Amino acid sequence: MKFILKIFFLSLFIIGCSPNKKSNEINLYSQRHYTVDKKQYENFEKLTGIKVNVVKANADELIERLKNEGENSPADLFITVDAGKLFRAKDLGLLQKVTNLKITKNIDPSLIDKDGFWVPITYRARILVYSNDRVNKDELSTYQNLTNEKWKNRILVRSSSNAYNQALMSSIVANEGTEAAEQWASGLVENFSRDPKGSDRDQVKAIAAGQGDVAIVNSYYIGLLLSSSKQEELKAGKAVSVFFPNQGENESGTHINVSGIGLTKYSPNKENALKLIEYLTSKEAQKLYINTSFEYPVNPDVEPAEIVKNWGKFKRDSLDLNLLGKFRKEAILVFDKSGWK
Ligand code: FE
Repeated sequence: MKFILKIFFLSLFIIGCSPNKKSNEINLYSQRHYTVDKKQYENFEKLTGIKVNVVKANADELIERLKNEGENSPADLFITVDAGKLFRAKDLGLLQKVTNLKITKNIDPSLIDKDGFWVPITYRARILVYSNDRVNKDELSTYQNLTNEKWKNRILVRSSSNAYNQALMSSIVANEGTEAAEQWASGLVENFSRDPKGSDRDQVKAIAAGQGDVAIVNSYYIGLLLSSSKQEELKAGKAVSVFFPNQGENESGTHINVSGIGLTKYSPNKENALKLIEYLTSKEAQKLYINTSFEYPVNPDVEPAEIVKNWGKFKRDSLDLNLLGKFRKEAILVFDKSGWK
């Protein structure tokens, strides 16, 4: 009996001492919904031998999942298309800091999270597009100007449940206060050409179909439409021009948001996860992003895609992007009050 016990404890000891079996993979929880991502992870796997497993869902669902899984979560990384959601994940204690110099040296300092809890991988502007036939560029100026009565029945934008709109509204609350945001929202609703519906791309198609004249959309969708193989999309892209609002000297700059990545608090494959962040912010991966999804690069050594470059440079709203999360509740209240569906 003693002998059997000895063997038992010895084997426990051996199991305990054997080095952790290093798994050559990373588990990614991602909100991104673009074709470029699969290619990025394949390239990374070829380069490093580390397999990237992706779980896709919307950001709130992924945050809920991380919360419920707690210390047992298999997730290493959380990717979103909204700094507001990264802020929320950080606020709930689901992320850990990334201060790795190999990573931060890849990124434009003005886009880095000052708290160090998320790393931007691309950024995008929420721009105006206008009908080439029915709008003159000089008629446009700011987001606020869209409440002018000259735009009655001419404005197109998707629903207020969408994170891109919620982030934009959060920025307006942060920059100008709740009251101004409420005035803006109800003024804009007055000028809607139809009840909000569809995606950003659908707003552009609606301009092409004559259902409205100015739309608020994310910049990269115009690049995607203009490079589309579908005739209908190409036609929509060609029916509009890009306008960066709020460029005046005393104006905020155009609202931007990042697609960013956070290292989960209990990441089981931390070393691999950091390697992936470093890779995604490298020149090589940044070039693939900008030429495939038409987002803006966060790596200052990489230039935007040709189509995007043609729109010209613009002044970005320099707001701390964490505020897009901090003011999210207020933003949603503003939407509810304004009747923006
Ligand atoms: Fe998108």
